[in-house]
Amino acid sequence: MGESHMNDVSRRSFMRIAAAAGMAGTAPIRAMAQSAPARTDYDIIVIGAGMAGLAAAHELMAQGYDVLVLEARDRIGGRIHTDWQLGAPFEWGAGWIHGPDGNPVSQLLADVDGTTFVTDDDSLEVYTAQGDDVGDEHIDGLDARAEHAAALIEDDLDDDTTLAQALDRVSPGLLEDPVFRWYVTAAIEFDAGGPVEQLSAFYFSADENFDGEDVIPLSGYDSILAPLSTGFDIALNAAVRAVAYEEDDGATVYVGDTAYEADYVICTAPLGVLKAVAIAFDPPLPKRLAQAIERMPMGTVTKLALQFAEPFWPTDVQYFGVLNEVKGRWPYILNYRTFSDQNILLPLSFGNYAFAADAMTDAEMVADAMDVLREVFGETIPEPVAHIATHWSTDPHALGAYSYAGFGSTPEDFESFKTPVSQTLFFAGEHTDFAYHATVHGALLSGRRAAARLLEIDA
Ligand SMILES: Cc1cc2nc3c(=O)[nH]c(=O)nc-3n(C[C@H](O)[C@H](O)[C@H](O)COP(=O)(O)OP(=O)(O)OC[C@H]3O[C@@H](n4cnc5c(N)ncnc54)[C@H](O)[C@@H]3O)c2cc1C
Repeated sequence: MGESHMNDVSRRSFMRIAAAAGMAGTAPIRAMAQSAPARTDYDIIVIGAGMAGLAAAHELMAQGYDVLVLEARDRIGGRIHTDWQLGAPFEWGAGWIHGPDGNPVSQLLADVDGTTFVTDDDSLEVYTAQGDDVGDEHIDGLDARAEHAAALIEDDLDDDTTLAQALDRVSPGLLEDPVFRWYVTAAIEFDAGGPVEQLSAFYFSADENFDGEDVIPLSGYDSILAPLSTGFDIALNAAVRAVAYEEDDGATVYVGDTAYEADYVICTAPLGVLKAVAIAFDPPLPKRLAQAIERMPMGTVTKLALQFAEPFWPTDVQYFGVLNEVKGRWPYILNYRTFSDQNILLPLSFGNYAFAADAMTDAEMVADAMDVLREVFGETIPEPVAHIATHWSTDPHALGAYSYAGFGSTPEDFESFKTPVSQTLFFAGEHTDFAYHATVHGALLSGRRAAARLLEIDA
């Protein structure tokens, strides 16, 4: 970069120090911009206005930096998005605060006076594909059976393999048992985010958790974003196509024909977007990162909200389970009537089936889920009056729901994002923190971590 840029850097550095010390003539707080900003020169550019990007931008703005967030969508939040069109919060992406005790997301919700509902995993009725009650005696022992299998795998396995293969090795035919197969998809594939045929037997559940029963933010998950999204510029409908970065002399970020300049760039584009090479880096990313991106898989989860005129199901049961020949086909259903007055059932698909569901049209998806509901609740149940269907794996700005520990990748792949690529290019996002990947708190902590690292380098 030329001399004039260096002058800009000095000017910006001065403004930043002055702002942080409260000396600036005007406060560094700006109203949120909804369209492309007039300026193209900033201290820091953050790619992506999801939890990781907003958390990083917020931290750095608070230190007096001049920050621009470039967001491909026409809204902020990324994989946090609350939709109220059905009269109750439909969460397109994250729905639960997993382990609310000591979870930094709980603090964000408290900051906006958000209310929560504690979901009860034990409030569950599981049905066979023919609609018969499976019976508690078959369900109650599932955790113990899974733990036993996990212990056998730990003793038996010298080298990593897929979880499906490892289960078959220690307990042949286990996945043929319809009740255990239901458990594998509704508990493991949902939580881990990938198909059991791809999950790493070593690492699929080696991440960390906060304590406490999971809660749903009744006031909408995306209510936590407002305080994090003021004080800096955000350009919406701004899909970054390329980043040209120097070792220690700034970067240029391209959106269409517009070139934005900054001293530092934090990229929080989802793993799916990085895997699709939707953003070109010049110079190319170092081998350690390029290989990690190739090895790390991105899974999907499909959510389908079905709203009915009247309930035809027991309204006081939190979850319904459905055993199915086809693993992952709408095996788990959240009953909105336990926390809302809307007659909504929310069937979910997991594992390989979720990719097939994502590829369906909305009408096909509704018909497919209704077939499953008819088997359980009877042929005469009515058609839904409204629906919302997610298709995360075909959404170009996500290309999946969340990253998972797949066979062929290791926790080090996730961790490799923590080391900045140069003094100017940083990464954050749920996929950059193995301990808490696939979660909102993982994304939040990763954004704060990237901001802290940048501050160290800029000190
Ligand atoms: C269906 C589903 C259910 C989930 N359930 C839960 C849950 O219950 N609890 C939980 O804790 N977590 C859950 N998660 C995971 C959680 O939502 C994510 O881990 C977290 O929101 C990711 O935040 P992020 O900032 O890393 O990524 P994102 O939120 O995806 O943010 C990245 C941003 O980058 C933008 N972007 C992409 N490409 C470009 C580009 N080229 N230029 C500019 N911007 C770009 C995207 O539009 C997006 O806004 C769920 C996710 C899904 C999809």
